[in-house]
Amino acid sequence: MNPVDPAIVLLVGLAVFAEVRRGLALALVDVGRLVLGLVGGMLAYMLVFSLSHDYLAGLIAFSVGVTGVVAGLAALVRALEFNPGWGRRWIARVGAGVIGLGLGLCISFVILPVLGRLPGSSDAVAQSRLARPFLEAVPKLHHAADVLNLDLPQLSSRPALFEEEGSRTITELGPRVNFMRLDGAMCIECRSAVKFEGYFRTAGVRVSPRFRCPNCGRVSDGCQTFEGFHAMYGVCPQEAVRPGFGLDCGVWSNDRPVLPLGDCPVDRPNGSEE
Ligand SMILES: [Zn+2]
Ligand SMILES: [Zn+2]
Repeated sequence: MNPVDPAIVLLVGLAVFAEVRRGLALALVDVGRLVLGLVGGMLAYMLVFSLSHDYLAGLIAFSVGVTGVVAGLAALVRALEFNPGWGRRWIARVGAGVIGLGLGLCISFVILPVLGRLPGSSDAVAQSRLARPFLEAVPKLHHAADVLNLDLPQLSSRPALFEEEGSRTITELGPRVNFMRLDGAMCIECRSAVKFEGYFRTAGVRVSPRFRCPNCGRVSDGCQTFEGFHAMYGVCPQEAVRPGFGLDCGVWSNDRPVLPLGDCPVDRPNGSEE
């Protein structure tokens, strides 16, 4: 049997059991702690990242923010000895169980994509029946983060270098790119405005954005556009291209490496001459 399935059942079951024991009032407090913790973590991440421009520092700030708020509120609730009797009536405990179920599912949703990226557990997660609905929801999460323009710590890792694109092993966490906003970026092959098609699952638990050029049909995860290449790899595609070799996307292949055509609109926004 796939080991991931019983692990999900166990985790959700434990969450239900814990909240039924705590009662409805404390279960509601737990939901509030989680939401406020995430908000606190996100604010800490945005603040530290905007000051330091260091992704790792931002990630640490995020973890400290979440842990601080969650633990601080727990200490406050304990100090106030908040545990009203209505929350411990049997009907209220049923409600607490439902909240526990929701919390258990949320935790699974966070853990599964992480587990799916670790070398030891990636295959098991990809093949798990219970994990499938969670993994299928991940592209929607990326889309929502783009719509809200949330500056979340990266939801998925991607290679730091263009040469490593599409390799399953070499990835590193980095600041998130809002790919939806790259809609209309300039195709490196024909200089038309590309269309953002959304986020899609690629191999295993990995998710990539996909762009398509309506003129020449070129597809990519954004790297086959001038603006996208700059945003993802911090260099101009004109500089990254090696003599004699063209560029192609490592995620959505075109089987058609090309040299970027003409001036880069990022480096020379007005097409100005040198
Ligand atoms: Zn094109
Ligand atoms: Zn690419």
